[in-house]
Amino acid sequence: MRILVTGGAGFLGSHLCDRLIDNGDDVICVDNFFTGRKENIAHLVPNPKFELIEHDVIEPFEFEVDQIYNLACPASPPHYQFNPIRTIKTSIMGAMNSLGLAKRVNARVLQASTSEVYGDPEIHPQPETYKGSVNPIGIRACYDEGKRCAETLFFDYYRENKVDIRIARIFNTYGPRMLPDDGRVVSNFIVQALKEENITIYGNGEQTRSFCYVDDLVEGLIRLMNQTDQTGPINIGNPGEFTILELAEQVLKKTQSKSKVTFHPLPGDDPLQRQPDIALAKKALDWEPTIELDEGLQKTINYFKEELNSH
Ligand code: NAD
Ligand code: UDP
Repeated sequence: MRILVTGGAGFLGSHLCDRLIDNGDDVICVDNFFTGRKENIAHLVPNPKFELIEHDVIEPFEFEVDQIYNLACPASPPHYQFNPIRTIKTSIMGAMNSLGLAKRVNARVLQASTSEVYGDPEIHPQPETYKGSVNPIGIRACYDEGKRCAETLFFDYYRENKVDIRIARIFNTYGPRMLPDDGRVVSNFIVQALKEENITIYGNGEQTRSFCYVDDLVEGLIRLMNQTDQTGPINIGNPGEFTILELAEQVLKKTQSKSKVTFHPLPGDDPLQRQPDIALAKKALDWEPTIELDEGLQKTINYFKEELNSH
């Protein structure tokens, strides 16, 4: 198959490109390198089945492909808040351009949506039927509402134009190839611990997240794309739920770091709890995560040790 991955040079996108190339597919990776890196896909570039195209998904694109994974969008709060209007444009125009292409070439298209569509949830854990609690005018809204609108566009193209859609609601995912200065919690804590710098906890650290290792996530995306019973939205994430303080303690223990835990103001609209209900993914995709936080953290720590030594 010929497969387009937008955002293919990013953290998740580059792992997805790896898996698709391993499966024997031809892959076109489109990225504007806002948060992605050429290093993430440099090993794929010599492969004749891989093509790298520098392009911004806000502008239309045209390729003859069978499948499209639309991942292009900054995902870390500091990155998506850096230029919030651009983030909204990326989500919305990127979705429209992906859907328009899918319609023209009759491709199946998967949207990388997010648990952020649930906002600061009043229902716990979050099933796909929960409609969410998002502040439309807050500092996270450029991302949350952009992703919500992208889901709307996917369903309107599905109903109006019979486009073959899939929507994955991805919960916090971590692993190798996150940027050291990415700003998300797992990479921040690991890098801080390895550099013996203060661990920065926002708020009192009692807020929770559920962390999925990247390999499990990629497996879930590929299964969702390649079955024909479900459009989604389907939650893809690891239901293991931890407070941010527990995460800090685990990272400190595993790195044997002497870093001190410090407390900082909680950013606006930061959700207090988050855990995926993955009953639908289990049933429809026969998928569930296999890598626990302990093991995934170790792999990620090993990656950052090498990364920090080589720079
Ligand atoms: P990332 O920032 O590492 O990757 C995003 C990629 O998209 C980067 O390579 C970036 O350069 C590219 N990009 C951004 N704007 C673009 C544009 N206008 N045109 C072309 N390319 C553009 O983030 P990630 O964690 O790999 O996330 C990938 C996707 O998965 C995103 O859509 C994100 O919203 C979604 N997602 C990720 C998580 C997670 O925990 N990692 C959770 C929920 C949803
Ligand atoms: N967080 C933190 N310290 C950091 C980075 C993040 O305490 O250095 C907190 C953040 O406030 C949030 C949680 O960790 O409550 C997860 O943050 P992240 O940015 O990774 O993802 P998101 O908030 O989008 O789920």
